[in-house]
Amino acid sequence: MESAAQLSLWLGPWLALFLVIHVLGVVCFAYIVARRLTPLLRGQRDLRFDQPLMRLRQVAKYWFGQWKHPRYKTAGFLHILIFSGFILLAMRAFTVLIVGVKPDFVVPGLSGEAGHIYEVLTDYAATVVFLCMVVAIVRRFVFKPARYEVPAGFGKAHKADAIFLLSLIALLMAADSLFEAARAAGQAQVLHTTEFSAAFSLPWLLKVLLVSASEKSLAALCFTGYFVHEVAFYFLLCYRPFGIQFHVETSLFNVYFSRLNKGTLKPVRWGVSDEHLDEVKSFGVKTFEDFTWKHMLDFYTCADCGRCSDNCPANAAGRPLSPRFISIKARDYAFRHYPMFGHAGNGKPLIGNVYSEDEIWSCTTCGACEEECPLLVENIDKIVDLRRGMIDDGNVPQSLQKPLKALESRGNPYGKMEKKRADWINAKDFQQACKVKALSPTDSGDTLYFVDSITSYDDRMQSIGRATAKILDHVGANFGILGSSEKDSGHEVRRFGEEMLFMSLRDHNNDAIKASGVQRIVTADPHAFNALKHDYKDVPPVQHISQVIADNVRTGKIQFNPVESGDDVYTYHDPCYLGRHNGVYDDPRAVLDAIPGMHRVEMKRSRDRSFCCGGGGLMLFYEPKEEERIGVKRVRMAAEAGANVIVTACPFCMVNIDDAIKVAGFEGKMTAIDIAELAERQLAREKKGTTQQAITGR
Ligand code: SF4
Ligand code: SF4
Repeated sequence: MESAAQLSLWLGPWLALFLVIHVLGVVCFAYIVARRLTPLLRGQRDLRFDQPLMRLRQVAKYWFGQWKHPRYKTAGFLHILIFSGFILLAMRAFTVLIVGVKPDFVVPGLSGEAGHIYEVLTDYAATVVFLCMVVAIVRRFVFKPARYEVPAGFGKAHKADAIFLLSLIALLMAADSLFEAARAAGQAQVLHTTEFSAAFSLPWLLKVLLVSASEKSLAALCFTGYFVHEVAFYFLLCYRPFGIQFHVETSLFNVYFSRLNKGTLKPVRWGVSDEHLDEVKSFGVKTFEDFTWKHMLDFYTCADCGRCSDNCPANAAGRPLSPRFISIKARDYAFRHYPMFGHAGNGKPLIGNVYSEDEIWSCTTCGACEEECPLLVENIDKIVDLRRGMIDDGNVPQSLQKPLKALESRGNPYGKMEKKRADWINAKDFQQACKVKALSPTDSGDTLYFVDSITSYDDRMQSIGRATAKILDHVGANFGILGSSEKDSGHEVRRFGEEMLFMSLRDHNNDAIKASGVQRIVTADPHAFNALKHDYKDVPPVQHISQVIADNVRTGKIQFNPVESGDDVYTYHDPCYLGRHNGVYDDPRAVLDAIPGMHRVEMKRSRDRSFCCGGGGLMLFYEPKEEERIGVKRVRMAAEAGANVIVTACPFCMVNIDDAIKVAGFEGKMTAIDIAELAERQLAREKKGTTQQAITGR
């Protein structure tokens, strides 16, 4: 209370001024936030109000727990320190503001010893945040991390904005510390009492410097510290919604409303069932207001940290796509389009004005950007929605028109006859080794092997199909295929934005699967796996062949012969739709590690940081301009890891990696093999038939 009396004396004459700043600050902030919310209110529906407990868990893990930040060690460490400091200082900042108009204000529960402990903690927090700001500014000026750079054609850099905000926060911490130090020095000098202080903190250092200053000087410094703190606080509060620091306000909500299920894609319109889709006048995103409110919140939340682009294979290959700018360009557009004063401008088409066509077609939907983003910003749904908009306007890239037409008429992108879909089972050697039936009501089975188009029709990939069938046969599965009744799973078609075509493929396959009467589905194609798991409705549980093999290795039903050449070094390439989108990382590795004598190494980018082969999203038929092919980059990574055999678990990866090995000049030195082919090659066949129980399901 003595301290409060002293503060009353020093700050009292300025009470009216402080009050005016408070009121102005709060009113301005409320106005700015209301303006920023306007586009969200005009955005499309997005149903994100379900599963509150799961959403709170997301907040606890990704927001409060800063889960993704340590993926970048230096920046992550700095951010965690700053975030913890902010959390600790939040209450102190408000207390300081109130103290200006009510000097004896104490937060309930923080009087006495608890208050002293809190003050010590916050003194250290202010010091740490101040130092972090200095380090962050130096880092931006001196070390200039490449991921902050803005490539040509992607708009302007926000470096000045970032540095201004970092400086402002440093100023806020310094002002807070000066106020604390002057108050404490005055207390020691005038009132001859000392508070327990945080040794070597910024307020402590300033207090040591000020302790012999005159009372008048201390009063002036106390006022200055308080005034600068108050002005900087409100300025920061009101300035943040104009730039990347807006994430301080929005990130909590963005994480709470984040997508809960990986591998899924947003519907064309939330709340509109498939049956009523033909009533929707316009598909996808064409203007800014076609984005959902959550996607607009993403734009505000992006901190421009560049982690997404740093991990984007399209960006690495020099394609005209940098996922960071999907957010930044839309946010800048929103700021221009919805000004602080006046009405919103006319909604211009986004394609051509904000994004280029090539930029949007460049995405392989690999998910690396989303996996990396610490604020759970979503990109794939937005890109697919923009594609839906282009398709709706008849804006289909030339090279994709033929495969799309073929998918419509023949159910596969190659335009091949339906009756030839199961020709791969007719190879003579294969027929002698393994019988594959086409499932029918009279010849049913419990397991469906869903082959999908690329494995059915591509000569090289048919070998994956035959290996998969032999493995299923080896473990005693009563399985079959749909044969000519199967159509393309539609996975790529959907991610390409052709929702109606996807629905017709899905409905056809759904009916065929139901008619087959199977209890489970196995596939060797992660794209089909993802479609059946997330895009289809009411189909039996689905497993990737690597999971089936791993299960049977565990039960002992599958055993392997040792590798023939002990000189080969194997590495496993995680397919995006098996790994990142579905979390299957361990089973394929368990299969490889069960092969005696196998020497396996990991590439630097593996598991959830795996680097796409470049084949997703119909990219086999459409390749935007790039400096170096994505697949070539991937095989170089394998070579760097010392591997000469790349094991894939996806036919699309096989096409790209096989090809990239030739382009990169590794032909004869490096090979690629699918996990099903490798497992089948290494099968210890004498074990066949020793156990005839049904293979383990999940
Ligand atoms: S989207 Fe996420 S990862 Fe990308 S720049 Fe923004 S905050 Fe960073
Ligand atoms: S999904 Fe993959 S290719 Fe597409 S923007 Fe993200 S990281 Fe880049």
